[in-house]
Amino acid sequence: MSTDVVTRFAPSPTGYLHLGHVRSALEGWRAAREAGGRFVLRIEDIDHTRCRPEYIGAIIEDLRWLGLDWDGPVRRQSEHSDDYRTALEIARAGGAPQDEMGTPYPGTCRHLGAAERAARRNSAADYALRLNVGAALAQTAALFWCEGDMRIEADPAALGDVVLARKEIPTSYHLAVTVDDALQGVTLVTRGTDLFAATHIHRLLQALLDLPTPRYRHHPLLTDAAGRRLAKRDRALTIRAMREAGRSPEEILAAASQV
Ligand code: GLU
Repeated sequence: MSTDVVTRFAPSPTGYLHLGHVRSALEGWRAAREAGGRFVLRIEDIDHTRCRPEYIGAIIEDLRWLGLDWDGPVRRQSEHSDDYRTALEIARAGGAPQDEMGTPYPGTCRHLGAAERAARRNSAADYALRLNVGAALAQTAALFWCEGDMRIEADPAALGDVVLARKEIPTSYHLAVTVDDALQGVTLVTRGTDLFAATHIHRLLQALLDLPTPRYRHHPLLTDAAGRRLAKRDRALTIRAMREAGRSPEEILAAASQV
């Protein structure tokens, strides 16, 4: 069996699995199964202020009910803080100033000296460590990724100096996803077009951390009959609610396959 194609599904347990999630899971699952590759599952539960343990069990149960099986153990981000801490130290070699929350980052703390940064981190105040994108880009050549048969040039500056970690949360989405895709050997990232902008930053983090670059496939987001993007808050579109309403796995997978 070829293991060249490794895809993943990486839900955040902030609610029940939704039809939009199933679309992402299905893209990865199909790509892996068609290629005789591997499909891995990762629970993105680093933000303990928003994630709830009961949703993890519910997500796993819904995926099983849908027949979307995965390979190997489930990776739970909350169990791997050390991996992110190590990556954070490496990324900080590229320059990661600190600042209070707020986007886009106005650069308030970019010019602080090392002693002042340490003093602020040790104080009781909240803080966020941000990537100094300008300093990081100065260390890298032009960056690209493959999207289908296109080669996309990364423009990491577009999102500004993104947060890499916060006082209470040792990693950000951007850092954790980049580290985990590499640690899980993911070769093809399938996710919605809403995360296309984030890929520019992930490509820069891969360069800073010396990690391989997977291929990417950003799929269209599901829409309703009027062409509007499905709202994640719509309870009727959770797999739970659809199951309760008597919909079969086949019907749900067909609905999630909308082009
Ligand atoms: N955890 C993210 C979400 O649920 C997806 C991350 C990714 O696919 O890169 O929206």
